[in-house]
Order: sequence, then C-alpha cells, then structure tokens
Amino acid sequence: MAETTARIIDGTAIAAGITEAVRGATGTLKAAGVTPGLAVVLVGADPASEVYVRNKGKTAASLGFHSVQINRPATIGEAELLALVDELNRDPAIHGILVQMPLPQHIDAAKVIEAIRPEKDVDGFHPINVGRLATGSRGNALVPCTPAGSMILVRHALGPDIAGLRAVVIGRSNIVGKPVAQLLLQENCTVTIAHSRTRDLAAVVREADIVVAAVGRPRLVRGDWVKPGATVIDVGMNRIPAPEKGEGQTRLVGDVAFDEAAAVAGWITPVPKGVGPMTIAMLMANTVTAASRIAGLPEASF
Ligand code: NAD
Repeated sequence: MAETTARIIDGTAIAAGITEAVRGATGTLKAAGVTPGLAVVLVGADPASEVYVRNKGKTAASLGFHSVQINRPATIGEAELLALVDELNRDPAIHGILVQMPLPQHIDAAKVIEAIRPEKDVDGFHPINVGRLATGSRGNALVPCTPAGSMILVRHALGPDIAGLRAVVIGRSNIVGKPVAQLLLQENCTVTIAHSRTRDLAAVVREADIVVAAVGRPRLVRGDWVKPGATVIDVGMNRIPAPEKGEGQTRLVGDVAFDEAAAVAGWITPVPKGVGPMTIAMLMANTVTAASRIAGLPEASF
C-alpha cells in the first residue's frame, strides 16, 4: 500500500461543526418565535432512500426542528403528489420541502421539483435556484447540499481565497457536477467540467489544483492522474463487493483510488466520512436559511 502524504479532510468533524452552528441558529430563530420546519417526502420503498430519509428526519428532530416525514406508495399519481407539494408550499409550519429522488418512472421529477416553492426548495434543484446560483445571485438562492458541503471542505483545506486555481469537476449532473462547478467559478477558479465523453480524462485531471470527482465509478481516478499537492474532493459513493468481510458483504468506496491518490495529493477526503456527512449538515443549514428568509429574520452564515 502506498504511503499517505496527503492531509485528510475530516468530513465528519467539519459536518459536526456545521450542525452545531445550525443548532445555534435554530435557538435564535426559536427565540424569535420561529421553529424551522422540514418536510421530507418519500415515494415508494427504495431501501437506500429510506435510510437517507430516516437520517434526515432524525437529524432535523435532534436539532429541534419541526420534522415531518411523509410516505406515499410508489403507485401514487403525479397529480396527487403535486397536490401534496402544494399543501406543503402553503403550510406555514414548513420552511423546507424535500422530495426524495429517484421518483417512480410514471412521475415527471422535473414537474415535481418545479412545483416546490423556490423559497422552500432546500435541495436547491428548482430552476429558480439553479438560475440564481448561475447568475451569482447567491444571497437569495438555496444552493444544493452536496456541492455546498464540498465547497466548505475545499475552504477547510485551502482557506477562503482559491482565486485563480485550476479546478476540474468530473461529472456534470444537476445534483453535483454542475452546481459545484458554478460554486468554484464564483470563487474565481478556472473551471473545467469533465464527463463521460471527455477525451484523455487523466491528462485533464493532471492539470487540476482542485479535483472534484462526482461520477459514480469506483476508483476511477488513479494516483498518477493527480497533480502533486492537489486537493481531492471525492463525492462518489459506490458499494463494491467485500468478500474479505464475509460472503455477500459490501463496502463503500469513492470515485478516487484513495491510497494511490493520498500518496500524491495535498489534501483528500476519505469515503466514507468525507463529503457524505456534509450533505445532511447542509440540508439542515438550508432549512434554517429558508426559515430565516421566510420569516424576514437575519440569516446566519454557515
Ligand atoms: P450521475 O450519474 O447523475 O452523474 C454522473 C456523471 O459522471 C455524469 O455527468 C457522467 O457524464 C459522468 N461520468 C460517468 N462515467 C464517466 C467516466 N467514465 N468518466 C468521466 N465521467 C463520467 O451521478 P451524481 O448524482 O452526480 O452522483 C455522482 C456520485 O456521487 C455517485 O457515486 C453518487 O452516489 C455520489 N453522490 C454522493 C453524495 C453525497 O452526499 N456524498 C450526494 C450525491 C451523489
């Protein structure tokens, strides 16, 4: 195994710090008579989604939020789901609405996302929030949780001034790749978005001072792709067979070959305990931000 030279970015500890800041801001809001309310809607019974939704609800409740989980069968009609979203849009006790993806095939996910009031869109996927982020109007946007959390990890490693650094984002999804690229651009990085059609991905990644891997391919990024001293943010969460743990067992790995990359990088996030814990923490932060804005109260920054 290669020797680790990179410093590890401890997502669990950094996320705990954010969660404590959210707890403080929740206390301030409650003292002003506002209890942040988060509604998480789960359609169907996908086991991974069930775990995510349960964890989100548990964290929200532990922070003293008004936390609601709404389960609907996979057979729910689109109109019925849209009506539920509308009800939550109008519910004054709810400041954040999250409809867990993926939705069943017969439901148009874009339609559901667009039905959420942008001010309550704590996932930051509504076109209004996407547009505000793209136009640099962050003051009134809600920013997607995983990208926002990834940027906090970058700042933890490199400090607030990353202007002029070359950043390569691998992956162009609406959930991670595109918004994280927008955030890096806003910080004045020189940003390249690589994807499945990129030619000579290794050469592109070798240029990067900051690499964000959001692909969903176990250990795609090899150690010899990483520029010495680079900061590597591994968003990937891939389950691979782990026969060493016993028959049928699996383990979680990222999109980066961690041991190899850690021998070259300056900073690196592990998987698990890197980006993963940041996502829930930022969802809580977004809910408090949404509650503050809706109530016309000052916003905390996270
Ligand atoms: P996605 O499938 O929507 O997008 C993957 C992107 O990777 C696509 O844009 C595609 O062009 C690109 N890609 C695919 N194969 C490639 C290749 N061989 N070379 C270069 N690019 C390639 O996935 P997503 O929703 O953006 O998620 C990406 C990964 O991040 C997944 O592993 C997912 O589980 C993980 N994820 C983690 C969190 C978290 O909280 N840590 C949150 C969201 C997603």
